Amino acid sequence: MMLDKFIKPVIADEIQFEPLVYPNDIFRKYQGIGLTSQRVRDRMVARLMEQKLTDERVIQAMRVIPRHLFVDEALASRAYEDTALPIGYGQTISQPWVVAMMTQALLKQHKPKRVLEIGTGSGYQTAILAQLVGQVWTVERICHLQKRAMEVLSRLAFSNVHHRCSTTILGWPEEGKFDAILSAAAPESLPDSLIDQLAIGGRLVMPVGADVQDLIVIDKTKRGIEQHSLGEVMFVPLIQRHPC
Ligand code: SAH
Repeated sequence: MMLDKFIKPVIADEIQFEPLVYPNDIFRKYQGIGLTSQRVRDRMVARLMEQKLTDERVIQAMRVIPRHLFVDEALASRAYEDTALPIGYGQTISQPWVVAMMTQALLKQHKPKRVLEIGTGSGYQTAILAQLVGQVWTVERICHLQKRAMEVLSRLAFSNVHHRCSTTILGWPEEGKFDAILSAAAPESLPDSLIDQLAIGGRLVMPVGADVQDLIVIDKTKRGIEQHSLGEVMFVPLIQRHPC
């Protein structure tokens, strides 16, 4: 969820998209109607394009992924508003603009083959990543959320997502090094264990901080780490029972 100051009212009527080519019949089947239709999804993406979404790969992924499947049916009609929505257990599905900015930052330099995601939540960001990268390893600490997210991802027939529920281990160290890491939950300071799980040449995008959080981008090089900030944000806290 972003601070209100980042949410600008914009008019997105001028952007004309090419007709969407769905990756397969399953996506066509779930494209939605009325307030969950392709037209409404395209308007959301058009609004994001007026707010710094420029990467064509992310644009197409956000046009394709039916965000309404990742929220409760009662909230489906609001799925294409640019806002975070509750998904239960005190957690939220990330605001589309945040998903767009984080994914765009993650893909900036290359197309990562192996991506670690911390905080599966609804699974929406996982689906966007799975559409764009080689394989995704996603970790969630609330097992009910993880189970629900995996049900939606399997309805969409993603076969490149590895998932697990863990309240004790941060990330997935046994899976070796990742080309990219994205976290949708904010630790107070940057966890060394996540830097360890990042390959040389890899990129990590995550919010860091307590009251005021910064969305930071870390590039791991042979010389060490380089860091820059994408601005102030507001995410749920990263819970670390046993930091490792
Ligand atoms: N991208 C998700 C965001 C979910 S909110 C979406 O759009 O739905 C962030 C999630 O991080 C929450 O579900 C929370 O339970 C989870 N989380 C917090 N600390 C965690 C940790 N240490 N390991 C894994 N998941 C964690």
